[in-house]
Amino acid sequence: MALKIGFIGIGIMGQPMAANILNAGYELMVYNRTAGKTKAIADAGGRVASTPAELSDWSDIIILMLTGSEAIDAVLYAGEGILSSSPAGKIIINMSTVSPAYSRTLSKCLAPSIFIDAPVSGSKQPAIEGTLIILAGGPRESVNSVEPLLLSMGRKVIYCGEAGQGSAMKMTVNLLLAVMMEGLCESLNLAKQMHLDTGLVIDSILAGPLGCGLFNLKSDMLKQDDFPVQFPLKHMAKDLRYVLQTADEAGAAVPAAHTVFQLYRQGVGMGNGDLDFTAVRKTLDALNDQ
Ligand code: NAP
Repeated sequence: MALKIGFIGIGIMGQPMAANILNAGYELMVYNRTAGKTKAIADAGGRVASTPAELSDWSDIIILMLTGSEAIDAVLYAGEGILSSSPAGKIIINMSTVSPAYSRTLSKCLAPSIFIDAPVSGSKQPAIEGTLIILAGGPRESVNSVEPLLLSMGRKVIYCGEAGQGSAMKMTVNLLLAVMMEGLCESLNLAKQMHLDTGLVIDSILAGPLGCGLFNLKSDMLKQDDFPVQFPLKHMAKDLRYVLQTADEAGAAVPAAHTVFQLYRQGVGMGNGDLDFTAVRKTLDALNDQ
């Protein structure tokens, strides 16, 4: 009989990830706080739970794909949350981006359930295509046992170590992502003030050794000065907050992270939080002498 998978969080990423689980032949039940977002999964043959507890009771494996730690606490500990059911012995996989410290705490609090942290590298399009890179932490034999399920959503599972180490890997990846995007936007900002054409600058960067998948992916947004959401800027600000906490605990020097955090946070304050994180370009523009 097919494994029964419960999936909580039908957002930008969760929607296509859950659809890919269903397409791979698993039985699927979903829950989302805003119930209307589950319609496409229901239309495709998935079940819809009215509470996290109902989903937990039905599922063999529970996946969380939520904003961050506050949202996870809400679906775990609220009145009809997962922990009001009996998830003992089940595997709970958190794929949301959270701090390693929070993942380690979850691992302890959720015992005797088995906890795996498995955040993802890749955005909306890889989630649709099922080509995410999955960064997994937790007991190795449990990660191995869910690898076929994870590969219904991604093209590679990277085992990073004990619980929390998947989240630790995600911190390192997103720190680089945040700094690289700010760096490109800062370069374009200087170019604009010197009356260079943005498209020409981007094409010059892409033609040389600095050309890379990320810059290529975001080039149209920057050329058109239009930032439809793939990875929301508000989530990058949230992730950098986790990066700074984590670096402080680890004793790691991350001077650029402090600066770019302020720029992404200012972007949220400017009302750009629901745009793609590439819209950090707008923050820099607002700081120029006009
Ligand atoms: P999203 O579209 O904003 O979805 C967030 C989900 O969390 C929604 O289902 C939302 O429910 C739910 N949620 C938020 N607060 C809640 C609460 N208090 N109680 C219950 N549910 C709550 O975000 P996303 O882009 O899919 O990202 C999900 C996770 O993946 C985040 O940790 C993000 O950092 C990470 N991530 C995103 C990307 C990307 O490119 N988008 C890439 C890699 C990793 P409602 O629908 O009711 O609001």
